[in-house]
Amino acid sequence: MLEILHRIVQEVNAASDLGEALGVIVRRVKQAIQTDVCSVYLTDFERREHVLLATEGLRPDAVGKVSLPMHRGLVGLVCERAEPINLDDATQHPRYLFIHATGETPYRGFLGVPIIQNRRVLGVLVVRQIESRKFDDDEVTFLFTLAAQLAGAITHARASGELNQIQDSRPPLNRYLSGQPSAPGVATGQVVVAYRLADLDAVPDRVTDDCEAEIATFKEAVQLTQKDLRGLKERLAAELPAEDQALFDALLLMLGSDTLVNQTVERIRQGQWAQGALRQTIEEHARVFDNMDDVYLRERASDIRDLGRRILMHLQMDGPRETVYPERTILVGEDVSAVQLAEVPTERLAGIVSATGSSSSHVAILARAMDVPAVMGVSDLLVGRLEGLDLIIDGYRGRVYVSPDSSVSDEYARLADEDNEIARQLEVMRGHKAETTDGVVMPLYLNTGLISDVMSVGLDESEGVGLHRTELLYMVRDRFPGEDVQVESYRQLLAEFAPRQVTLRTLDIGGDKPLPYFPFVESNPFLGWRGVRISLDHPEIFLTQIRAMMRANIGYNNLQIMLPMVSMVSELEELQSLIRRAQEELVEEGYGVIMPPVGVMIEVPSAVYQIDELARRVDFLSVGTNDLTQYLLAVDRNNPRVAEIYDDMHPVVLRALTQIVEGAALYRRPVSICGELGGNPLAAVLLLGIGVDSLSMSAGSLLKIRWVIRSFSRSRARGLLQRALRMTDARQVREMMESALDEMGLGGLIRPGK
Ligand code: PEP
Ligand code: MG
Repeated sequence: MLEILHRIVQEVNAASDLGEALGVIVRRVKQAIQTDVCSVYLTDFERREHVLLATEGLRPDAVGKVSLPMHRGLVGLVCERAEPINLDDATQHPRYLFIHATGETPYRGFLGVPIIQNRRVLGVLVVRQIESRKFDDDEVTFLFTLAAQLAGAITHARASGELNQIQDSRPPLNRYLSGQPSAPGVATGQVVVAYRLADLDAVPDRVTDDCEAEIATFKEAVQLTQKDLRGLKERLAAELPAEDQALFDALLLMLGSDTLVNQTVERIRQGQWAQGALRQTIEEHARVFDNMDDVYLRERASDIRDLGRRILMHLQMDGPRETVYPERTILVGEDVSAVQLAEVPTERLAGIVSATGSSSSHVAILARAMDVPAVMGVSDLLVGRLEGLDLIIDGYRGRVYVSPDSSVSDEYARLADEDNEIARQLEVMRGHKAETTDGVVMPLYLNTGLISDVMSVGLDESEGVGLHRTELLYMVRDRFPGEDVQVESYRQLLAEFAPRQVTLRTLDIGGDKPLPYFPFVESNPFLGWRGVRISLDHPEIFLTQIRAMMRANIGYNNLQIMLPMVSMVSELEELQSLIRRAQEELVEEGYGVIMPPVGVMIEVPSAVYQIDELARRVDFLSVGTNDLTQYLLAVDRNNPRVAEIYDDMHPVVLRALTQIVEGAALYRRPVSICGELGGNPLAAVLLLGIGVDSLSMSAGSLLKIRWVIRSFSRSRARGLLQRALRMTDARQVREMMESALDEMGLGGLIRPGK
């Protein structure tokens, strides 16, 4: 059964359209289960009926014509219950309905399984038998699996308009494929499918008797790949900020690293041919990242595999093929890589759609840096059928329209015009202060440290850096970075922003951010060894970092040190004593270092409830709303299954923020917001109402937040906050803020168009 199932799934995937896919399913299922009839019904909730979409066994001319009323018959019952119904004699069931038009004789055996996608029943897959027959468990699961396959194909056909001829009463604007919004903006263009150049998985193990020749070929392939990557990097140099080009450096570094090359060479020496040795090494490295919880790090596995495929392509002596890119290219792929993106001439790249990946994928990060709309994780995308088709993507809402009809194209052309207008209006914000209409100034800072946080807009327009995440410096190496390497990196940043303030956060690993060379396994990592808990258990790591920060600050004096994940006062006191020790030692060694301001991040509930005790002991506070939300709502911030209930605009988060600001005020300590909430146009007004002293955000949000702040008064913000605090869920808060922004003509900051 498993073998047959596998083959049918392959055939369905290879089908060129839904009609063919349905044909394969009804034919092959009827054969495999040896039943008299197999049919597929499509549910139309608006017309309240189930339409016969395909059949093997009933009259073929009934397809598209025969429909069953919504809540009648057994097909209706499967749909209502959204679970299978398996009856040995259906004619005895009270819901049995006899239909003449299909050429039915009274069938007794009946098995119907729902076709479900995203909690919604799309239709019903049915098998029937003239004789009495109870289908066994294997047959039920067989049908289940195929129904899941069909669900994807139906969703795709609906979005592409393929289903229109049969029936689909939904207006065209409601027919789209959904994914994760990964880079804002809307785009129209033609699809170019990015496909895998070489299939690494398909490479077999093979013994070689000429190791030296294999090694030479391998090294040559590595050199050619290095050359390709350098070429791509150079081509993109003008488009991307230095931090984003670091991706290519990281790939080149990986290629040049002893680990990747030497391990492959070692495998060749043991008798494996170059291609097989490469596959084994790449898999070993990629698996390390595959197992990580953090989405950002997990995405690195696809970078490594992509690198492997590129080397393989040269090993197979099959040079890159010339692709013709239309003027407005939408790059679409199963797993679009950053390097594939780099291959598209930038002036032709209009948008990016990937069936896998997330907004943390490198390609999404690059898309944001290049200001190209992107939608990632579009799981219903049938990539193979899209080449050359017209596509519209909505990067605000994560929507993809396949072969849109003119009403959709016209609507999006209008939205794109309005977007351009908004972009022009945003430019006007340059050089202005984020000052409310009643004269309250809200300083805006930048979050840096993850690739692409620093863009040209941020450098001149911000008051400094409110959060620099230092983890990247530790992640791109194969060991902890030494003091001098860190001094160099921090000094560059301090110099770039001097005399403006730069807040460096101490290492915040553990939880969702393990280091590849510092592995540990925990059953509950978010409640485990993370942030300053590791720093306290490994003072040598912490002290090295503090020393580097203080040394980097010599001559600039614009450093602030920030401690993440502090959950109790005793931790803070111990950390402060280590910081003092580092300073004393440096002074003893002859460095002219000063004690910089030291602050804590408030990102766990216990810190909220001890806010005055913490505030008393530090120079400033900064709220990490990403973690604070996850701990207050008990929702993993990285888990897609619960992503819908993770919402940092929940009234509970707002109440906690109010309490933090009140506690800090007792000791006149400033409070900043450095989580994602700080860069959210919907939240900025509420944060203003709460009375936070500054906001820190990624560069892309800076001008938007400035515009929002300049459109409201502090008293209006307080009024909105009072209403929000009385609400019970995040949706209400969002709706209220959406209309508040709409009223001020700022709707274009949160959705396409004005
Ligand atoms: C936060 O938790 O809000 C925060 C800013 O830190 P990170 O996202 O790096 O955990
Ligand atoms: Mg955090």
